[in-house]
Amino acid sequence: MSDCIFCRIVEGTIESKKVYEDERCLAFDDANPQAPVHALVIPKRHVPSLKDFQDHDIECLGTLLQICRTVAKLKGISESGYRVVTNIGATAGQTVFHVHFHVLGGRRFRWPPG
Ligand code: AMP
Ligand code: ZN
Repeated sequence: MSDCIFCRIVEGTIESKKVYEDERCLAFDDANPQAPVHALVIPKRHVPSLKDFQDHDIECLGTLLQICRTVAKLKGISESGYRVVTNIGATAGQTVFHVHFHVLGGRRFRWPPG
């Protein structure tokens, strides 16, 4: 059993509320939502963060962003506006070291982020 929380979600040993799934990627609701809509989009393969992708992973990266767009549509925030965020490293706020894109919406956001 993996000691990575998100690998365990992929394995099914930790429950999640799935929003989207295909052979390579998964999207599920964040357990501690920061907005009315807050989902996470991940590759099923364990990659610690965005910086750990290789040049040949560019297609996977494109797919992950495309799934962010799909999740926004499924959640009904595509037209009202939403934010896609990935934190890279603890200094930037990353707490789970399995790469994920946050899809946040349903309220107004400030800029710059805290
Ligand atoms: P980050 O701080 O960018 O690494 O984001 C990690 C996110 O994972 C946080 O928003 C957490 O609320 C979320 N999270 C942690 N554990 C779980 C879980 N078991 N199911 C869903 N979301 C989780
Ligand atoms: Zn993992």
